[in-house]
Amino acid sequence: MVFIPHLVDGEEVSSLDGATFPSIDPATREEHATVALGSAADADRAVASARRAFDEGPWPRMGFAERGAILHRLADLVTEHLDELALADTTDMGKPIDDSRSKDVPRTAQNIRFFADHARLAHGDALPMDTGHHAYSRFPPAGVVAAIAPWNFPLMLESWKIAPALAWGNTVVLKPAEDTPCSATILARLALEAGMPPGVLNVLHGYGPDSAGAALTTNPRVDRITFTGESNTGRVISEAAARNLVPVSLELGGKGANLVFDDAELNGAVDWSIKAIFTNAGQVCLAGSRLYVQRGVYDEFVERFAAAAQALVVGDPKQSGTQIGPLASETHFRKVGSFLDGIEQHGGKILTGGGGEGWTVEPTVVVDAPPDAPVQRDEIFGPVVSITPFDTEAEAVHLANDTRYGLNAMVFTENLSRAHRAGAALRAGTVWVNCFFVRDLRAPFGGMGDSGVGREGGDYSREFFTEPQAVVMAI
Ligand code: NAD
Repeated sequence: MVFIPHLVDGEEVSSLDGATFPSIDPATREEHATVALGSAADADRAVASARRAFDEGPWPRMGFAERGAILHRLADLVTEHLDELALADTTDMGKPIDDSRSKDVPRTAQNIRFFADHARLAHGDALPMDTGHHAYSRFPPAGVVAAIAPWNFPLMLESWKIAPALAWGNTVVLKPAEDTPCSATILARLALEAGMPPGVLNVLHGYGPDSAGAALTTNPRVDRITFTGESNTGRVISEAAARNLVPVSLELGGKGANLVFDDAELNGAVDWSIKAIFTNAGQVCLAGSRLYVQRGVYDEFVERFAAAAQALVVGDPKQSGTQIGPLASETHFRKVGSFLDGIEQHGGKILTGGGGEGWTVEPTVVVDAPPDAPVQRDEIFGPVVSITPFDTEAEAVHLANDTRYGLNAMVFTENLSRAHRAGAALRAGTVWVNCFFVRDLRAPFGGMGDSGVGREGGDYSREFFTEPQAVVMAI
């Protein structure tokens, strides 16, 4: 059995008390790795290592070009180890191997390169004042960053946090999700190989409550907490951080609305809407799980969409060609199953899907669900979409905004004015028009309401991972 250690101060270590937990491959439903289970004492040790590397080590004191060169070397190594990293995420959580290989790992390398370059090329303010003084801004690193990640895009979302943190000169303790520990340890090994000094990137494994995660969020020697995960976990982490007055960035759940207007280019709308809900078996915070279709194209859209859902290849995630693998864990499979069990009882009708073998759920299309049904309101985080007709643009915007979440929305229309109008009226951190999941890493990313607090990406990440400072000089 493979053993996945913590990585602290450049060393691969077991937990101080020797505790471990299993990592289960959801495709075989068997343990495929044994993982070090971190306690509060292990969290302390990891934070102490990051603290030392920040207070005394070379990393925060290097120039941007020197740090950037190490980060670019890390990105090169990620690309060289594409097969190993892709297989680690697929085995840990059942993501189709084609996605791991063509999306998650390349995007990880891209995130690392982007933030290395962004930090090196960033501008500050230079403000000649009327008084004759001269003010300028500096962006020194914040210190020790605790990065707590979810399991749905393990490596990719970890890189979205650690790349800007490292590029700006912070040191990091990364806690991957307990369901997906493997790729983080590989990444930290590669960081050492790339020349990153020991203690700069530490990896601590374990659970959340009463375990490694909670211990990190209450540690007074942590300067920033960046968290991606469920909205309720975000609330708990916010409370913990408030006690130490530590800034938190929260990227939380979603219930993305997808509006298809009569004038949409229907082939594109069907194709993107399928991707929006069934990518990663719907285990995507940005999933377009509420699909609203204008009455004039409703019947045709639903027929084509259901046919496309049925055509998706469900199977072994390690097999190239598979588009839908199992859900990430038994707990998650049971959660999604409980939503499916309640659909008809709440007035919805399952048009296709609903079944599946093992922990797999077939692409599931639901119609006729009333607006207050759980399938319309709650984040299911599985391959389940609810389709509802609408008549007017105002009604579509109202339905889309009738949610406690506000992460993202999609609009499909060929009417330019409507695209801008509806986009501006939607209460969502990201609005995609005639596309989905396309990202510019300079753009703000984050959510409103239960979808999060703060924004990351480009300058927004700089704001969070540094302590912006003004210097005012009398000339
Ligand atoms: P989760 O909240 O259960 O766990 C996320 C991480 O937090 C894990 O590492 C876990 O161990 C840790 N954790 C749990 N409780 C903790 C506590 N009390 N203190 C400290 N750490 C704790 O979420 P999940 O099930 O892993 O991920 C799925 C959720 O993440 C979904 O709601 C999804 O929408 C959301 N998500 C959001 C984004 C985004 O960018 N907004 C991206 C991906 C996933």
